[in-house]
Amino acid sequence: MATQTRRRPAKKSAKKSSKKVAHAAKSRPAKRRTKAPAGKKSKLVYYFGKSKTEGRAAMKELLGGKGANLAEMTAIGLPVPPGFTITTETCAAYYEEGRQMPQGLEDQVRQHLARLEKETGKKFGDEHEPLLLSVRSGSAVSMPGMMDTVLNLGLTDAAVRGLVEATGNERFAYDAYRRLLNMFGDVVMGVDHEHFEAAFTTIKEKYGAAADTDVPAEGMKELCEAYKAVYREHVGRAFPQDPFAQLMASVEAVFRSWNTPRAVSYRRINEITGLKGTAVNIQTMVFGNMGDDSGTGVAFTRDPATGENKFYGEFLVNAQGEDVVAGIRTPQHVDEMGKWTAPGFPTIGKQVHKSLLRIKDVLEDHYKDVQDLEFTIERGTLYILQTRAGKRTAASAVKIACDMVKEKLITEQEAVLRVPPSDLTQLLLPGFSPLAKEKADVLTRGLPASPGAAVGRLAFTAEEVVERAAVGEQVLLVRKETSPEDVDGMHTAAGILTSTGGMTSHAAVVARGWGKCCVAGAGDIHIDEQNGTIKVGGRTFGRDDWISLDGSTGAVMTGQIETQEPELSGHFAKLMKWADKYRTLKVRTNADSPVDSQRAREFGAEGIGLCRTEHMFFEGERIIAMREMILAETLEAREAALAKLLPYQRDDFVGIFTAMKGLPVTVRLLDPPLHEFLPHDDQSQRELAQATGLSLETIQRRVSQLHEANPMLGHRGCRLAVTYPEILKMQVRAIVEAAITCRKNKIKSMPEIMVPLVGSAKELGLLRGHIEETIALVKKETRFGGKLDILIGTMIEVPRGALTADEVAAHAQFFSFGTNDLTQMTFGFSRDDVNTFLPDYLKHDVLEKDPFQSLDTSGVGQLVSMACQKGRAARPEIKLGICGEHGGDPASIDFCHQVGLAYVSCSPFRVPIARLAAAQAAIRNAVKPAPAKKRTAKKTTKKAATKKTTKKKVAKKTTKKAAKKTAKKVAKKVARKVAKKRPAKKTAKKTTRRRR
Ligand code: ADP
Ligand code: MG
Repeated sequence: MATQTRRRPAKKSAKKSSKKVAHAAKSRPAKRRTKAPAGKKSKLVYYFGKSKTEGRAAMKELLGGKGANLAEMTAIGLPVPPGFTITTETCAAYYEEGRQMPQGLEDQVRQHLARLEKETGKKFGDEHEPLLLSVRSGSAVSMPGMMDTVLNLGLTDAAVRGLVEATGNERFAYDAYRRLLNMFGDVVMGVDHEHFEAAFTTIKEKYGAAADTDVPAEGMKELCEAYKAVYREHVGRAFPQDPFAQLMASVEAVFRSWNTPRAVSYRRINEITGLKGTAVNIQTMVFGNMGDDSGTGVAFTRDPATGENKFYGEFLVNAQGEDVVAGIRTPQHVDEMGKWTAPGFPTIGKQVHKSLLRIKDVLEDHYKDVQDLEFTIERGTLYILQTRAGKRTAASAVKIACDMVKEKLITEQEAVLRVPPSDLTQLLLPGFSPLAKEKADVLTRGLPASPGAAVGRLAFTAEEVVERAAVGEQVLLVRKETSPEDVDGMHTAAGILTSTGGMTSHAAVVARGWGKCCVAGAGDIHIDEQNGTIKVGGRTFGRDDWISLDGSTGAVMTGQIETQEPELSGHFAKLMKWADKYRTLKVRTNADSPVDSQRAREFGAEGIGLCRTEHMFFEGERIIAMREMILAETLEAREAALAKLLPYQRDDFVGIFTAMKGLPVTVRLLDPPLHEFLPHDDQSQRELAQATGLSLETIQRRVSQLHEANPMLGHRGCRLAVTYPEILKMQVRAIVEAAITCRKNKIKSMPEIMVPLVGSAKELGLLRGHIEETIALVKKETRFGGKLDILIGTMIEVPRGALTADEVAAHAQFFSFGTNDLTQMTFGFSRDDVNTFLPDYLKHDVLEKDPFQSLDTSGVGQLVSMACQKGRAARPEIKLGICGEHGGDPASIDFCHQVGLAYVSCSPFRVPIARLAAAQAAIRNAVKPAPAKKRTAKKTTKKAATKKTTKKKVAKKTTKKAAKKTAKKVAKKVARKVAKKRPAKKTAKKTTRRRR
């Protein structure tokens, strides 16, 4: 097969960042070695090879994912080129010492290099048969393409002659050398790739070569000289002829690549925090570009897009590894491998394919998960260069988890733990409506690289995407191919469209990881970045044109195609069934309309944890009545306006109670400050004057009376009801009348009346009186003799409420933690203004996460936990839940499980996520936490940590049955803690009195 070996991808990715690095490198004084910290003669390097293998897969934090798995694969007998790994701690030490190579590192590298030379029988820099090395980055969490790699290290003017001697292939040897000169110059020394490119063009012209592969050996030799000149010109000194100096400089470059802007940006976007740094893998080179009996590729043990249990991969004959990933040459599918023949080796493809399939089985059996591997074939011999858990779409994650249970590879609990809850978002995302799709004008088809539906206008650079999205535009990123420096734009874009590259190209892999719709390799599309147009099938589209992408079929369509809700059956339903089986937390939803309630119920919501009533006052006529009520200056006038609102509220409640029949609905009484309902601009105030018959002056006076300097801490929540009990009474009346109406319609409603913003027991005591009176009054008026079972409780969202929770519990049959306000008030961070400084807090690691998204367990969580204890002490049967945004955040849900809440409540869309997260929390916490050392795992990403620890814990420490038992035990414990029975009011009062 004729193949061409291209230049290494114009590591655009490396360009920007390495420029800065180059400056840094230049301005730094001659190398100093730092003193070793006292008593720290630590092991910095771990070997993997036939003679010994010191690492294991579980040592990801120390050896990085790549290094740990290279060791593991070596240990289980897979063909891995031998090498050694410098630990992530060494990288951390490098930074701690102000970017100085830690002492002792060089010695340890030399020792391990000596062992490697012995094992391979080759010498580094040798003039006869040189050992060549790659230097590869790799942190505990995979960051594909984010950091640097240098290949072919150890070539020098002398060694390259040795390589010619050893391989008898002069062209190959000089090709390898010029690649090193280019890569080392670019990645390590920050020389712009374009300078090398220009030199190459000159040589190609001289030899009349169209492609790189047409350049003969002689030309390659000349090219090496030209590259050395480029290097000398831009670096200011000659390319190092000392192989060890090359090696150490490359190691340092990898350390530096840990903190390039793109790597930092990737970690921020993916919320990867708490890592020590990158490990550095130094590995014997194998060559996929030695001729037609060599090649390279990447593969997944199962299809990463659909999850189908079918070996999936792509390969290139006579190429180096990077060529596949970079998407420069379009690779062949592994299914085609059987057809690959080489001179003197007609069955090469069949044999390699067979070996790959065997290795696939070994890997899946061993790792019990889908693996994503890199392989290289050197003169017919297969090597595995990398394996890691395969990134997959949510749909395939769910399918794979279900299939693996069926195949008895994993247990149900493990399956539940396998799917990152937030990935379910992808499944819950809309696709295109089939009808609209049928009629769609399909321009072309690319590869269905990452499923989903995306609609947007065209943007041609990552920067453009970010800029246009910032002003609210919906845009697609359209590029020939993407590179790691595009990640910000890729993340922001509605979808991604590329014209080259395969299913494993950068765009495809990254998009799948995020669940972002991506169509890759749509080769019919000609992109003119300069003019901001694409041409396809004789038609031209520009920045203002809409395009729709179907990531599930690869279709690229004109216009805005209508989207629709996804179907939640099959494997998804099965996984959710398991989740429901193992979780002990209930999941409710935050909803304030019958439509939302219905949707949430379909998603599996087991009640409404927060029904905000203020949203109900904004629609149509209601807002006028609401404003009349607020503007009223006498009780009578206010009551008259409230009477107009009553029927609306009652009908809303009837609708919601009906949608949620048989399930509890927590209704929060009016919460926002009243001025929020009034118009503030002149025009609207005039209109209001007209509508209400009041004078403009009256309105303006009232607006200014209601003005508050700090409304979030002002006259709102229960404070409103203290001043205007009639508002509370109207709302309670609406709830009770709705419940009675439902009862008459044979619909079981379970309302819970929630008083917001309580900071002292007395507030609640007073208001509870009003509520109980109103309930009794309405029952009497309507001659309703039955039982309504309406619970009265409060939101715990003011720190004082949490601190005095025992007193508050005297009046509350339930607490619902309003962690939005509780976070706001505990930190003293205004939620509306926090974004002015939060980015800096995150950047400087003052905060690890946005506390409004993920519960601050040590601070705010302490208040929650304390309030739970105090609440239970005062009222053992008290019902505890959470209704802040945190109720849909997996890490926060884990915390809620641990403090023994009865339920979490979140937006309808997040209900399935919460169900899965709750199950994971139950399974994970069913086993005692691992000893202190393991717990450092928590510091890595959530995902990685959970996967690792849970897998081990569940797999090793408990059998399926045992785990189930434990889960049940936990369930019982929680059940005991949180009495399910609704307390009769009398007993509630009794408790109250007794406690007092
Ligand atoms: P990344 O983390 O960006 O994937 P890698 O360390 O995997 O970087 O290296 C990039 C490419 O270089 C790989 O695709 C691999 O094929 C190639 N490579 C790395 N080390 C070797 C080696 N020892 N022999 C042959 N090819 C290698
Ligand atoms: Mg790799």
